[in-house]
Amino acid sequence: MPTIDLLLTHATVVTMDSNGTIMHDGAVAITGDRIVDIGPSADLVARHTAQHTIDCAGCAITPGLINAHAHVPMSLLRGIVADLQLDVWLFGYMFPVEGKFVSPEFVRTGTLLSCAEMIRSGTTTFVDMYFFEEEVAKAADQAGMRAVCGQSVMRLPTPDAPSFDEGLERATRFIDAWHTHPRITPTIAPHAPYTCTDEIYQRAVELCAKYKVPLVTHLSETALEVEESYQQRAGTPIDYADRVGAFSVPCIAAHCVHATNEDIKVLAEKGVGVAPCPTSNLKLASGVAPYTKFIQSGVRTGLGTDGPASNDDQDMFSEIHLAALLPKGISGDPTAMPAKQAFALATSSGARAIHQEHAIGSLEIGKQADLVVINLRTAHNSPSYTYAADAIYNQLVYTCHASDVRDVLVAGQLLLRNGQLLTIDEQQVLADARRIAHDINLFLANREENLLDKVLAISPVAASEIFEVQIKARITPTQADTISAQLSQLPFHLIRQNSRTQYDTYFMWNDVTQGRIRLREDHRHDANGRTPPYYTLTLTEPATRIEHHTAVQLSRARYTAQANHTERFYREYFQPNQIITITKERRRMHITYKETEFAINIDTLINSAHSGPYLEIKSRTWSQRDATHKALLMDEMLRYLGINDETVIKHEYVEL
Ligand SMILES: [Zn+2]
Repeated sequence: MPTIDLLLTHATVVTMDSNGTIMHDGAVAITGDRIVDIGPSADLVARHTAQHTIDCAGCAITPGLINAHAHVPMSLLRGIVADLQLDVWLFGYMFPVEGKFVSPEFVRTGTLLSCAEMIRSGTTTFVDMYFFEEEVAKAADQAGMRAVCGQSVMRLPTPDAPSFDEGLERATRFIDAWHTHPRITPTIAPHAPYTCTDEIYQRAVELCAKYKVPLVTHLSETALEVEESYQQRAGTPIDYADRVGAFSVPCIAAHCVHATNEDIKVLAEKGVGVAPCPTSNLKLASGVAPYTKFIQSGVRTGLGTDGPASNDDQDMFSEIHLAALLPKGISGDPTAMPAKQAFALATSSGARAIHQEHAIGSLEIGKQADLVVINLRTAHNSPSYTYAADAIYNQLVYTCHASDVRDVLVAGQLLLRNGQLLTIDEQQVLADARRIAHDINLFLANREENLLDKVLAISPVAASEIFEVQIKARITPTQADTISAQLSQLPFHLIRQNSRTQYDTYFMWNDVTQGRIRLREDHRHDANGRTPPYYTLTLTEPATRIEHHTAVQLSRARYTAQANHTERFYREYFQPNQIITITKERRRMHITYKETEFAINIDTLINSAHSGPYLEIKSRTWSQRDATHKALLMDEMLRYLGINDETVIKHEYVEL
């Protein structure tokens, strides 16, 4: 009688093979990394002598679950922030924190933490996309898991590559070093069409073709992305990916939430694997992927969790649950997604989605021994019905929890036994994760207290200390015209002038020591009409004031950045206590008076109870002597222009 390594007996064996075979009181025989026999327990016990036997009475044995899209190191960013728009989440939090904290150690710890979570919840294979991907590969290998590890590349600088060329070199070295590994498939992951270029996709495809590895990417996650793709790339993201050759190699495309009917045809024809991520797609309000159409059209369809920063767990049971419910809720048809089909998304169909159906996804002789033993004798799983073979799927999809997973094997190796992790020092990993999170927490806490840090987190700024003497006075519309005329004659010398419309949004806080932020949209009018507006974000810290007769001398720190995001982005990111908007028509003149340079603004406020106009005279200064001198010159100028001291105001528009 041949000796086998391990025999699992007395289970309900859910094979997920093409016939949908289910065995009650079934057994699975394993030698090395493979399943060598499968059938009724009595037969297998009679046929084999096993080194070890595990009694699985009261349990189901299923293929190991496949998580077709993840960013596993991001478990360390779990729960940082939630319920935000995608751009605020990404540019306001993820990119700044990743830029500062992502390192090989971060990736290693985050991956081990995720592996612990995934193994505990029955996942045996995952597809990843992140940075320092060799650390993901090492940690996954150490944990004994199976993984497709995609080294991210994009056109922006990343935590592990300041340029795309370096990212590509890194990916090439990584793939070359790992491509013969039995469980780890190394590859390259162009992040998405909107963060990459044609060349990035083309060179990634060449690399995948050379090493025969699949290409991992994100496609059509949000409606906005598809809309912008039509404008910028003359087609959907899926059209684009096809055009740049991404489907000429096996491709694993995350999300595809907004795939059109035409896209679905292309995905099916080109054998692209798709990985919708129900929880993430719901949480980020991206939508619900057209699962039913994918399946009906023969698209290789899997399921993913996406990164733990947008899910926030990596529990495939909850993804299967949602994948079974969402199509029903949307279509009004309870037959839209049978439980068996939903379970297949994380097993047999999931294996096709990641192009590994020859090795995993079902329990069959000759396939890899990746399997999960699930305890069905818990309160929420009881009772169990066996009159109909398919009843087991209802239980697996609608009642089973991740915590019911008792044992897990990958390639014949036990990774979890009776709820104990065998390949990961869980206490050590949890302690390491807490230590890294502590630093991130401090960074964010300091940033939330300090507006400058918050501005710096999203854009490079030009800083300046401003020492300035200024006068502001209310004038009449007639005076405004007279003053402009006077300023172009002696004793003044007009150097230059222009006019503009400024749309200012001020973000203010109850604690005024924080300073305030101004978002300015500046439209300059020139002889040819309007030039394109430019946008600036300016943080002004509270000023120190010295009052002269009519002038005010101010010194304050000011930080200016180019504003690349929308007003909505900044409002949600900075969360001010008060917002004031001011629109003004500004005529600006630069003049000299007694050989001293002054800037003069004549402002009319639009849609304001205090529309003005206002005259503003300003000059930069550098010493107290100079400031006093300029304040005196300003007094003189006011008198010369016929402006009464009583009309002088010593505060700013935003305080009107
Ligand atoms: Zn993703």
